[in-house]
This record gives sequence, C-alpha cells and structure tokens, in this order.
Amino acid sequence: MTPPAKTTSTLRIAVVGAGVAGSYLVSRLSGEHKVTCYERQKEKSFWPVCAWATSLHEMKSIAGNCGLSFQDYILHESRQMIVDIGKKLHIKSVGLCTFDKLSFEKDLHRGGDVRFGCDVRSPPNGGSFDLVVDATGFSRLLLPRPEKNYFIPSLEYKVRFREEPFDDFYIRPFAGLSGYFWYFPLGDRYAFVGAGDYRRNHEAQLNAFMSKHKGEVLMKIGRPIRITPPSMCQPFSVGNIVGVGEAIGTVYPLLGEGIIPSLQCAELLVQNIGDMQAYEEAVLRKFQIYTEALRFLSHRWRHGLGPMRSLPLLLKIFLHMKRNEKRYGLEMRLRDWLRVVGN
Ligand SMILES: Cc1cc2nc3c(=O)[nH]c(=O)nc-3n(C[C@H](O)[C@H](O)[C@H](O)COP(=O)(O)OP(=O)(O)OC[C@H]3O[C@@H](n4cnc5c(N)ncnc54)[C@H](O)[C@@H]3O)c2cc1C
Repeated sequence: MTPPAKTTSTLRIAVVGAGVAGSYLVSRLSGEHKVTCYERQKEKSFWPVCAWATSLHEMKSIAGNCGLSFQDYILHESRQMIVDIGKKLHIKSVGLCTFDKLSFEKDLHRGGDVRFGCDVRSPPNGGSFDLVVDATGFSRLLLPRPEKNYFIPSLEYKVRFREEPFDDFYIRPFAGLSGYFWYFPLGDRYAFVGAGDYRRNHEAQLNAFMSKHKGEVLMKIGRPIRITPPSMCQPFSVGNIVGVGEAIGTVYPLLGEGIIPSLQCAELLVQNIGDMQAYEEAVLRKFQIYTEALRFLSHRWRHGLGPMRSLPLLLKIFLHMKRNEKRYGLEMRLRDWLRVVGN
C-alpha cells in the first residue's frame, strides 16, 4: 500500500466531481484530512459514463491502495482482442478486462462525505476550503479553459444481446485513425457498444452495427473524450484550486483510455498534496508520452502524413507500450502495430 503524503496539518479539502479520480481521492484522503466531495449527478441515477474497460494488473495495485480487491469487480476477463482492419488481427490480452465501475466508485465513497445533486459552478462554501480539487473530467469547471482543446465525440449503448456478435473484445479502427468502434463484453450477454470519431461519423457507424446485430438497447450515453495531453492543459492549479484526472488531460489519446491514468494522476496528488509545483512536475513527467501520441495523431489528421513519415514517433510510442504491456493489458507486436497505425 502506498503511504499517504506527509503534511504538517489536517487540510479542509473540497473534491468537485465523484468520477473515478474524485472518488479515489475521497477514499485516499478522508482519513487524514477533512474531505467533502460534491457531485452534480443525483445519487439514485449516478452513472460513470465510460465503457468500463481496463487492465487488471494495474487496477489490482490501485484498488489495493484503497483496501479494495479489484478481482471483486471484474465482469469479463479477455483472452484476446480482435482488431478489425479489414483483416482481423488477434491481439493477446495481458489482463484486459471490463469491470463494474459503478460499484467500484460507490465503494470508494464508503465512509467519505459525498454530496450528490450539487452542480458546482464556483469554489464551494465561499472559499472556506484549504484546497479545492477540480475532478470534473471533461467539464473542467473550475480551472481556466486550455488554449487548445482536442476531443473525440463519442456515443455508447449498453446492450443486451440474445446472441452475442462476439465472445470477447472487438474494435474496428476508422480510416486515418480518426477513432474506432468498440464492443466490450460485460458478461451474461450484456455489452457496451460504442464509437468515437474525431470526424464525427461515430453515430452512423454505431447504428449500422446495431441494425445488423440487433440487441436490446438499455441505455444511450456519451460525451466528448478529452485527448488534449496534460502538457497542453496547463495551468493545473490556480490559487487553491487544483485539477486532477481528465480535467487536466490524463487520457491516452490513441485509445481514449482514461481510467488508469486518472487514478494514477489522483495518486500523484495524494503524494504531493502539500506541494503543487512538485505535483505539476510529476504529472508532466508521468504523461509525457501523451504529448507524443497527440502529435502523431495530429500529423495524420491535420497534415495527412502517412505513418512512415512519423516513424521515429511511432517507434517511441510502440516501445513505451511494449515496455508496459501489463499496464495497457495487451501484447504488443511491432507487425500488428504497424498494420493498425497504417490503417
Ligand atoms: C463513452 C466513453 C467510453 C469510455 N471508455 C473508457 C474505457 O473503456 N476505459 C478507459 O480507461 N477510459 C474510458 N473512457 C475515458 C474515461 O471514462 C475517463 O477519462 C475517466 O473516467 C476520467 O475520470 P475523471 O474522474 O477525471 O472524470 P469523470 O469520470 O468524467 O468524472 C467527472 C465527474 O464530475 C462530475 N461533474 C461534472 N461537472 C460537475 C459539476 N459542475 N459539479 C459537480 N460535479 C460535476 C461528473 O458528473 C462526473 O461524475 C471513456 C469515456 C467515454 C466518454
């Protein structure tokens, strides 16, 4: 278990947003500090908009920091993911799974002071807190807007199938890497089926899939996913307000994956709670590769450059993921990687 940061006194902390990063902070900080969390959604209808896919190895250790056993939340453990680029690639799973993110977040709230139905628009309680954490995700309600904001519009359905179209993870990247379609199993013939596309063709792709494969749509959800990396989401702190998670860009631009990085970012805040400069430096160091990933995508989208024109960048990103297969939950093979990014 990672020890909490050493501070000289108990702080009064407001956490705005009870998503995965805010909920983690409630759990990690409530013992040592006086923490109040404000969440816009109502308690009864609280829902983490997300496809609930992650890597179990990293999540085991993160959940352990809060005294939770990640195994208890797993819904579907993948053997392999199909990546459909016309030809179907079978990528071996290294702990890729879906998990019950709703129960996980609710369990992180246990014993904490979480107030639902609070749509916060300015620092709560007239600024009586020592620290106010902006954990509002894409909204980034309390910090200034970043100069540039890159995001992927997305839409997702929770579906119950009579006959499952796939028995494991399936994704279909769109031409030019502008986004992808996903099918993530939740067990018991339930799945999240969704798509995100920089070029905004996601809804048509999703509906074409649904009219082919049918299934009962139980829920329609969606929001943009921020892919502006932390280096372009500065400032992270203004006065006594500090950002965490997707509010400051901790989403891997190539995958739209934000659960683990937002939790890692929240842990960096725990470790540096008394020193905001150290926190900012740690976040920039940890997520530096996200800047490279966005640069690569921008070469494709805005300048139309083929993958071979960005080869050094591509290899750097590949090596990062290869070294961290357990963290990303997928086996990385150079041949597959070049096929997918060349799509
Ligand atoms: C459709 C979709 C699918 C995704 N699938 C995956 C996936 O499978 N795996 C993965 O790793 N990542 C996925 N992501 C990304 C991931 O969900 C996010 O990056 C991650 O949850 C960010 O965590 P967070 O706590 O920073 O923000 P969020 O989880 O967005 O939480 C922010 C919270 O703040 C609350 N809030 C907002 N405004 C206010 C306000 N004014 N006052 C009070 N509260 C407020 C919100 O209600 C929310 O509860 C997906 C995202 C989307 C949109």
